[in-house]
Amino acid sequence: MATLYRNARVHSPTEPAATAMLVVGDRIAWVGADHPSAAAGADIVDLGGALVTPAFVDAHVHLTETGLAMDGVDLTSATSRSDVLDAVARRARQRPGEVIMGFGWDEGAWPEPRPPARAELDRAGGGAPVYLARVDVHTAAVSSALLDADPGIAVADGYDDGLVRRDAHHRARGAARAALDPERVRTLRREALLSAAKLGIGAVHEMGAPHISDADDFAAVLALGAEPDLPDVIGYWGELHQVERARQLGAVGAGGDLNLDGSLGSRSARLSDGYADAPGERGMLYVGLDDATAHVVACTRAGLQAGFHCIGDEAVAMAVAAVAAAARHCGLAEVRACRHRLEHVEMLAPDLVPELARLGIAASVQPSFDELWGGPDGMYAQRLTPERAGGLNPFGPMADAGILLAFGSDSPVTPMSGWQAVRAATGHHAPEHRLNTREALAAATRGGWRAARVDDAGVLAPGMLASFAVWDVPGDLVDGLPDVAAGTDPPHCRRTVVRGRTVWEG
Ligand SMILES: [Zn+2]
Repeated sequence: MATLYRNARVHSPTEPAATAMLVVGDRIAWVGADHPSAAAGADIVDLGGALVTPAFVDAHVHLTETGLAMDGVDLTSATSRSDVLDAVARRARQRPGEVIMGFGWDEGAWPEPRPPARAELDRAGGGAPVYLARVDVHTAAVSSALLDADPGIAVADGYDDGLVRRDAHHRARGAARAALDPERVRTLRREALLSAAKLGIGAVHEMGAPHISDADDFAAVLALGAEPDLPDVIGYWGELHQVERARQLGAVGAGGDLNLDGSLGSRSARLSDGYADAPGERGMLYVGLDDATAHVVACTRAGLQAGFHCIGDEAVAMAVAAVAAAARHCGLAEVRACRHRLEHVEMLAPDLVPELARLGIAASVQPSFDELWGGPDGMYAQRLTPERAGGLNPFGPMADAGILLAFGSDSPVTPMSGWQAVRAATGHHAPEHRLNTREALAAATRGGWRAARVDDAGVLAPGMLASFAVWDVPGDLVDGLPDVAAGTDPPHCRRTVVRGRTVWEG
């Protein structure tokens, strides 16, 4: 089964002037200038001058949550608490008797920055179970009917009269999900992966963990990725000390959202200095250094990737210290071969940058976080002061030091979109932390494969996996790539090919 894609602008490092690409089975067989003898007997697809890039890889998603958010009440544009309550009331009228799930509220810029109260949600929802996740999905507001579904929520750690964090949040999320029709959840999960295909995404990394979902949900997400007409799914299971279980579940790593700390938005990211807007608070540490080290050692001995969610500087430093300690126990070469990875790794102190490179740690980062929350007036500056916030997400210095960067969305925290990540990284609030378009595109494509230890994908060259995307670019190309600066229209995905099979055409 061979297909020649011709009349295209192929973004290939080995053949910069390439206009055609031959795909045989699931691999790229040839890339070069258009001439028919390359393709005797092949199907021919004329791409009409479109741009071809490697398919995007979203290196940090929660697929079921994404599907639920797509179907749930979208609160990302709510500018006040009453906007949120109106949206809940509308949904209660539209779908009476159903649990109401909403996503994306952010009280930071509201006139009165107070989350919706339980009594308000009871009224707006007409007595329905309501679960509304804050934008960072580390805090949620819930109604009394949701609390009735699991009496354990109100006595769990992190419960504060209808506002849930930590364990109380995990339980509340579980109760909301349990109230949904399983068939509906299956449909939404599939739609979420299909929506990735429509965006030119050829693979996603699913971050499963017991505090987010159960093993059945994780298995269902991995099974979707094994279907031939959908993007690939690469799974990570974030449960401390459960190396064998991660392997049994089909995960390629015992890491991902194995949380050392929380988020800056919810003031649970662990800081060495306190929060500027909450004196005396320094966030949470969920795991100690000895446990973190033992986990990395066990993974290294099993030849499996380890990893942690870490955002605040103290949590990031602990994650790096754990990998360094594992290198002393197991050997640096063994640790580097595992390519352990850190999620978010936002407050990375400059002196840890070379240490990440030395230990061969991959950084799974979310450029959209800087776009949303960076800058002198952003949420990060509020939480940390503008000076400390200015050091966050130093992509440029990380890339210069040779650290493997993989871009992700943390969807549904921010929407899946490869070009959006490229735009955010090239337009980082701090100019010294920016990447150029070529570097950013590599982090959004090949970086995701390499962060999962797949080295024969993400580049349009012979022998590589034939997962690529075809784009209509509205403006001119700059150095062979689209100009994705703020204010420009993003490229439109015309076709997504995964392992040689077209999974989306539009
Ligand atoms: Zn996550």
